[in-house]
Amino acid sequence: MYNYTTEQLQDLDRKHYLHPFTDYKKLKEEGSRIITRADGVYLWDSEGKQYLDGMAGLWCVNVGYGRDEIVEAVTAQMRELPYYNSFFKSANPPAVELARMITSLAPAHMNHVFFTGSGSESNDTVVRMVRHYWASEGQPNRKTIISRHNAYHGSTVAAASLGGMKPMHAQGGLPIPDIVHINQPYWYQDGGDLSPEEFGTKVADELEEKILQLGAENVAAFIGEPIQGAGGVIIPPSTYWPRIQSICEKYDILLVADEVICGFGRTGKWFGSDYYEITPDLMPIAKGLSSGYLPIGAVIISDRVADGLVDKGGEFNHGFTYSGHPVAAAAAVANLSILIDEGMVDNVAENTGPYLQEKWHELASHPLVGESRMVGLIGAIELVKDKQTRSFFEDRGDVGTLCRDICIENGLVMRACDDTMVISPPLCITQAEIDELISRAIKCLDLTAEKVL
Ligand SMILES: *Cc1c(COP(=O)(O)O)cnc(C)c1O
Repeated sequence: MYNYTTEQLQDLDRKHYLHPFTDYKKLKEEGSRIITRADGVYLWDSEGKQYLDGMAGLWCVNVGYGRDEIVEAVTAQMRELPYYNSFFKSANPPAVELARMITSLAPAHMNHVFFTGSGSESNDTVVRMVRHYWASEGQPNRKTIISRHNAYHGSTVAAASLGGMKPMHAQGGLPIPDIVHINQPYWYQDGGDLSPEEFGTKVADELEEKILQLGAENVAAFIGEPIQGAGGVIIPPSTYWPRIQSICEKYDILLVADEVICGFGRTGKWFGSDYYEITPDLMPIAKGLSSGYLPIGAVIISDRVADGLVDKGGEFNHGFTYSGHPVAAAAAVANLSILIDEGMVDNVAENTGPYLQEKWHELASHPLVGESRMVGLIGAIELVKDKQTRSFFEDRGDVGTLCRDICIENGLVMRACDDTMVISPPLCITQAEIDELISRAIKCLDLTAEKVL
C-alpha cells in the first residue's frame, strides 16, 4: 500500500517523525524498525523478519492481532456513523452498548462509565472528577491525591504527575500541586531482610503516615495500579492491597485502581481489582478495552461517586471531542465479545496462565536471573549481578537494554524496565507458542549472560 523501500521509510522517519519516549539522537543513528504486518501473537517487519510479540504491542493486544470480527464491526460502523459527539445530550448505539458491557463485567458496585481517548486522558479525568466530587460533597479541601514512586499513569501533565517516574517529572516541572508519592511495594529491590508479607504491610502503612501528615480532610484519593506495569511488573505482596483498602476506608479516601494494564483479563480475572479483591471507587481503563485496535479509554465509576455527581455536582466541565467515539466503541464492543465468547479470561486463569507461570519460574535457575514473578499472563524476571546477595548491576538499565536488543535480534519482543525483563503476551497465546516464547527467552538470556557475567 505504501510504496516505499525499508531504507526510504527509515530515511523519512528520521527526517520527520519524532517518536514517543525516544532518544532522538540515538534513533537517528540506529534507524527504526518498520513493523508492517501482524497475525495472532506474531509480528513481521519490512524485511520479512518474524517476531513473537511477548508484549501484546504495548500491553494492549489482548485478543491478538488479525481478528476479522473487529475489522468488520469497525467497517460497518464507519459506514453507518463515522463520528458524532456525546456532548449536548447526544449518544450513539455503540457507546451505549459499550457502557452496558463494561459495567456488566465490572465489580457490582460500579455501574457508570465516562469515555476518553486513552489511559492518560482517563487519569486526567480521575484527577478532575475526584476533586469535583469532593467539592460537590462540601469538602473542597479534599484535593490531594496520593500515588506511588515508580507508578505509571500516562504522559499528559496530570497523568505524568500522578505517575512516579523521576525522568518524566524532571522534564516540564512536574508533578503539579497536590499530588504526592509514597514508596512502591517492590520487595525484591527494597524488601531487605523482611519477608514479602512484612514488607507489604510496611509500605502500605506509609499511606496512613502520609494521610496523617497531610490531614485526612485534605486528601481526595489514593491511586495505584493493582500490578505496576511500566515500573517493571511489580507484583505486590499479598498483604499490600488489603491494608491499602482498609486505610482508605478508615479515612474515607477514594480508592482509584488504575486498570489500564490489569483490566480485561491480564491477571486471569476481568480486573486486577477482582484478582486482589479490592473495592475501588474509580477504575481508569484503556489498552485491553479495544485490544489496541483503535484508541479508546474510560473511567469506570462507583455508584457512590456517580450518585454524588448526579445529585450535587451540577455540570461537569470536562470531556473530549472523541469521548464515546462510535467507531472506537464498536471496536471495543467487538473486542469484549471475543473475550467473552471465547472464554479467554478463564483460559488465562485455568490453562495458559499456569502453563506459562511454571515455565517462567524455571528461568529463575538461570545464572543471570535473581527472581521470576508472574500473575495471569503478566510477568518479570530480574537480571542481576549476584543472585545470592540480590545485587543489581552497577549501571542499572544497561544489561536490560542489551538483553532486549538480543531478544529482538532473535525474534522475541520482551521489554526492559531497567534490568527487569517483562512480558505481557496476547491472551490468545497457545501452549505451543508459550513453548516457543520460553525457548527464545532462554537462548537470549544465555547470549546476554555470555556478554555480562
Ligand atoms: C499505558 C498506561 C497508561 C496510559 O495510557 P495511554 O493510553 O498510553 O495514555 C495509564 N496507566 C497505566 C497503568 C498504563 O499502563
